[in-house]
Amino acid sequence: MDANRFMATIIPVTDLRAASRREALERLVRAAAAESAHVATGELLDARGRPVRDLRISVTDRCNFRCVYCMPKEIFGAEHPFLPRSELLTFEEITRIARVFVGHGVTKLRLTGGEPLLRRNIERLIEMLAKLGDVDLTLTTNGALLAKKARGLRDAGLTRVTVSLDSLDDATFRAMNDVDFPVAKVLAGIDAAAAAGLDPVKVNMVVKRGTNEASIVPMARHFKGSGHIVRFIEYMDVGATNGWRMDDVVSAAEIVRAIDAELPLESVDANYSGEVAERWRYRDGSGEIGVIASVTQAFCSDCTRARLSTDGKLYTCLFGTDGFDLRALVRESASDVALGNAVAAIWRQRSDRYSEIRTAETARASKVEMSYIGG
Ligand code: SAM
Repeated sequence: MDANRFMATIIPVTDLRAASRREALERLVRAAAAESAHVATGELLDARGRPVRDLRISVTDRCNFRCVYCMPKEIFGAEHPFLPRSELLTFEEITRIARVFVGHGVTKLRLTGGEPLLRRNIERLIEMLAKLGDVDLTLTTNGALLAKKARGLRDAGLTRVTVSLDSLDDATFRAMNDVDFPVAKVLAGIDAAAAAGLDPVKVNMVVKRGTNEASIVPMARHFKGSGHIVRFIEYMDVGATNGWRMDDVVSAAEIVRAIDAELPLESVDANYSGEVAERWRYRDGSGEIGVIASVTQAFCSDCTRARLSTDGKLYTCLFGTDGFDLRALVRESASDVALGNAVAAIWRQRSDRYSEIRTAETARASKVEMSYIGG
């Protein structure tokens, strides 16, 4: 099939309803993968003209925390069926898929999960990915194992790290992670990461009303002048288990107002198009913060992120319901050209813009869990 004919077959897929769209996409991707030459060349753009720049890779669906807004204990208890080892992508499979994405224009790879530092020998995967060339190789962690692992991660080729920390108040933090984990150990992890050269460290704080909004200003004050960048994240309706309600969202505007009242701020331009966090700096020059307003100010229009689940499904939206099974292609011995064609076919028909159309009803839909798709 030549590239033009192939492109023509894509258009109807986006017009179909969910179930038949799934089948049509499967057929389309399979047809693309069956081509022995590249079916599409030039810049890879989706149906809304967005390129693919970031690949987030979930390396495990397990976590040593049970954050109430992400993996609530009632759902992710002792009986929860986490993926068996054979279902996980191997390091070789992950690296192969990542290489295909880099070939399509991805410049940033982020390892996530679940808790990525729980994946055994993660340093070896980092070494393999670091050889893919000029990519920004980062990782998001809850920091529990970071003090022990920071140096090894850096030596393996990790560029930077993002650490999640929802409060500096020990009681609040222990209640939010729901495994009684203390703040001090996460702070030690952040220090170790900085000492190992994984800086500036980004610190992610999810803000949930009635839970930790009193921690916003202390968090900003603590990291002001440290060189690290706190990013305040609006609580999102990811997955289907966290019981999200719009009333629980503390808006980015409210967060900025609270900090600005005590530590004056001014806005800063984005570093690049598609940057998730809106940037603010302290007027006294002592650093910056970010706010991620995916609920109140959707940024779908320049979303350049693809997500690879722990078992190799490709999702083109954090709020997706279906992923395309790239692992099946890999395990059927698809060539690199076939894989590249499949990825191109999936990306070209992508038209997601969930955050722009979110309602209380969509929030209740059965979306995949963040621990599986990768945060
Ligand atoms: N275990 C790692 C960690 O804690 O950073 C990586 C995975 S975690 C799912 C990635 C990020 O997603 C964390 O910063 C977490 O706080 C954030 N997150 C999880 N659920 C969220 C939600 N409902 N709304 C906003 N952010 C969320």
